[in-house]
Amino acid sequence: MTIANVIVDVPSQNTNRPFDYEIPEKYEGIVQPGVRVIVPFGPRKIMGYVISLAETSSFSSVKKITDVLDVIPTLTEELLDLGMWLSKKTLSFYISCLQVMLPQVMKAKYRKELWKLSEEPLASDLDSVFDGRAVIDFEDFEQSGVSYHVLRKHMDEGEVDVHYEVKSRETKKVTTMIEPQLQPVELEEKLVDISSQAKKQRVILEYLIEHPEPISKKQLLEKLATTSASLKPLIERGVLREYKQEVFRDPYGDREFERTQPFPLTSEQETAITPILSTIEENQHEVFLLHGVTGSGKTEIYLQSIQQVIDKGEEAIMLVPEIALTPQMVERFKGRFGSKVAVLHSALSAGEKYDEWRKIQRKEVQVVVGARSAIFAPFTNIGLIIIDEEHETSYKQEDRTRYHARDVAVERARTHKCPVVLGSATPSLESYARAVKGNYHLLTMGKRMNEAVMPEVELIDMRDELHEGNRSMFSRTLKEKIEARIARGEQVVLFLNRRGYSTFVMCRDCGHVSECPHCDIALTYHKRQNRLKCHYCSHEEPMPTECPECESKTIRYFGTGTQKVEEALQELIPEARTIRMDVDTTRRKGAHERLLNQFGEGKADILLGTQMIAKGLDFGNVTLVGVLAADALLNLPDFRASEKTFQLLTQVSGRAGRHEKPGEVVVQTYTPEHYSIELASQYDYEQFFNEEMKLRKAFRYPPYFFLTLFTVSHPNQLKVQEVTQKITMFMEQKLSDQAYVLGPTPSALTRINNRYRYQCMVKYKKEPEQRKFVERILHYYEDEMKQENGLQITVDFQPYQLM
Ligand code: ADP
Ligand code: ZN
Ligand code: ZN
Repeated sequence: MTIANVIVDVPSQNTNRPFDYEIPEKYEGIVQPGVRVIVPFGPRKIMGYVISLAETSSFSSVKKITDVLDVIPTLTEELLDLGMWLSKKTLSFYISCLQVMLPQVMKAKYRKELWKLSEEPLASDLDSVFDGRAVIDFEDFEQSGVSYHVLRKHMDEGEVDVHYEVKSRETKKVTTMIEPQLQPVELEEKLVDISSQAKKQRVILEYLIEHPEPISKKQLLEKLATTSASLKPLIERGVLREYKQEVFRDPYGDREFERTQPFPLTSEQETAITPILSTIEENQHEVFLLHGVTGSGKTEIYLQSIQQVIDKGEEAIMLVPEIALTPQMVERFKGRFGSKVAVLHSALSAGEKYDEWRKIQRKEVQVVVGARSAIFAPFTNIGLIIIDEEHETSYKQEDRTRYHARDVAVERARTHKCPVVLGSATPSLESYARAVKGNYHLLTMGKRMNEAVMPEVELIDMRDELHEGNRSMFSRTLKEKIEARIARGEQVVLFLNRRGYSTFVMCRDCGHVSECPHCDIALTYHKRQNRLKCHYCSHEEPMPTECPECESKTIRYFGTGTQKVEEALQELIPEARTIRMDVDTTRRKGAHERLLNQFGEGKADILLGTQMIAKGLDFGNVTLVGVLAADALLNLPDFRASEKTFQLLTQVSGRAGRHEKPGEVVVQTYTPEHYSIELASQYDYEQFFNEEMKLRKAFRYPPYFFLTLFTVSHPNQLKVQEVTQKITMFMEQKLSDQAYVLGPTPSALTRINNRYRYQCMVKYKKEPEQRKFVERILHYYEDEMKQENGLQITVDFQPYQLM
């Protein structure tokens, strides 16, 4: 094999195919499929991925590979194939699909080093290159003349590793350790000497007498709730020693995890897990939909299924939505499987992510717990893929390669002949419909653990409040209930919807919302023209001055931010201590966790927040959950608005009364009669599913129809309109009569960064040729799309964000 077929790092239509390069002799055997290389391309040298090898090239003159970046292939053959599949499925460039599978550090320029992992001298010339050092620049190796094969052998033996250094060397993490300088008995003597005033010093000594081994300073101080001021005198007197130690970048490494044991399963759990375990055992591919109410013990099923996979010597991928990937969640997995678990989380630094990824690649772990992109974990022997909270839209990537992790999971599981488990208390309509049809295997768990009941939900009609003269955003009931909790020393979670989309129009008197007569979604208020527009079709109308329903003049556009609520709360209940959690207060790294910890420690009575507090919170002292404006989500210009409302209300309700104290939920709404609000308050998923399916059918939405969404943007509005119009006409002409092509329509977010945005939406059942037409469109506009600040056309074959 002397030729490498390389996909180069130039995302464009013309380069979306392999190029041939000759493999220089010194790289023979090293250049394999999945290895990244540097190749000459035009006047430049660029990075590329080797996807296959060949004896010969059909081109007469091929250039040589300049350099290899990997000694061990970065992408497995399976992932190379998966990238091709992804590229076809999402109509993205192959290169983008390969890049999306890898941690950031491998895509950018970073300093590359060789680390010697073993203490022993290396049995080759490479040893003299290290020359006693533990770390050398990769360049040193390249200039030494030692062959790649030798390096490869040491890497296979685990003696040497390639390392990417992010930024400067200072980023290497060191931690301060504390260690007693004296034996425990001597420490006891010291304890006698310390004045009883110095309480904290005594606590520290007492702890170290019990646990004389070194401990990180941070951990010690946290554990004993003290500060370095109390450590200082002990160090000065030589009782303790302080020293620096380099740590492996394991974000959870300095945590101790208590080992947990599997619970004996309840009969409901037993029934649910049995078919999962048998498909694992028999290497069968099957997709399970585990529909279990919150607290029914789904996680325990995940854990025990993963255990079986580990026992079999195989690997498991566990996906969790980004915001649910809390330390509490991680603890449950690390607690059960210890160091066999890698965690991939977007809050990790680039270096940390890479380290976790390497553990997977090196087979040091058998389980990965992570957000969306963990679906690409480079395991080679997958025995199970689990997606918790499968309905979460964060599993859909919204830029570049618009993949859905659920589809990737099913594709990988098919290759690996293993099951996929999708879990949720409120499955997506798509998944549940598949389960009803028998494409997925439905497993149902309707009971909460320990006979716990779901908290009672009370719906408050905000129209009544207004009629009674209460113009505040808090109903009287909610106010009273909050005050009662504060008086009892219990805690409250107040939930407000995502801020920013204050664009729907509602009558405060009767709750009437202006909707599109053709699409069953709320019309969007466009401030500049003072008009209402449908953001799916082209319908528009003037902003009404009075309610078409009841003629009241209190019709207006809607929305409040968390900050405003906080102020109102302060005024209404001055004694309440509130923690606000939204994008503003959690921007800084670690802020999220810190605020939650404060709340958990009882430093506030009320936790007020957006989406991000809906998930995973588990505080025993929370006995009241309030939802301030249930309608805000309901009236987003999105056909999934009802589904999202149902999911969110169910999830938020699940936050109350998780432990001994019973919980209560208050939902404020202007439309208590809306089926998604009413049925969520009764926890009736099936009924909701039936109601919602009727509407999806009537208005031709998924899961009855597929959607394709074109979004076109350009600084010039006329240009955008014109292009979108052309696309719409082209698609109309090409597709069958069974397809519905809607547009051109201004997107709900009509202008972003001074670029106008228009869209065209296709609803269809079966259009096998569609992709070909879309490709033609993209090809046609390619030059215009290359220009700086030029035309942008994105195509989403499974749109979740319809703004
Ligand atoms: P879900 O994931 O469905 O919301 P969890 O798995 O978190 O539910 O279970 C809720 C609680 O019940 C957890 O505290 C969990 O430890 C506990 N639990 C789960 N299964 C069992 C079991 N078989 N026996 C006793 N407790 C269990
Ligand atoms: Zn419409
Ligand atoms: Zn009205």
